[in-house]
Amino acid sequence: MSQNKLHVRSGDRVKVISGNYRGATGQILRTIPDERRVVVDSVNMRKRHQQPTRENPDGGIVSFEAPIDVSNVMLICPHCDEPSRTGTRVDADGTKERICKRCDNPIPKSEA
Ligand SMILES: [Zn+2]
Repeated sequence: MSQNKLHVRSGDRVKVISGNYRGATGQILRTIPDERRVVVDSVNMRKRHQQPTRENPDGGIVSFEAPIDVSNVMLICPHCDEPSRTGTRVDADGTKERICKRCDNPIPKSEA
């Protein structure tokens, strides 16, 4: 059984609740369940100074998002539009769904 399941998926809108980017919102671009980290659009930008290569003869500065810890983000519920805790509910037909603990609505998968 996997202990690595995260409370957010790629495509989710999240709010950053701690760290340098506290208060920022963005979409999850990528999840790294093994490290319990996520990459959020425009959050935790890093710059890499790159030596000129054959593909990129001028070199220069490349910006990219560095992963942040998944515990630093909260899912923004699409129903109440607030950062919310999530839970899991099992439907009568046996399907599991993520629910918002604030408004009790199911949160759809929002695959990017
Ligand atoms: Zn909600």
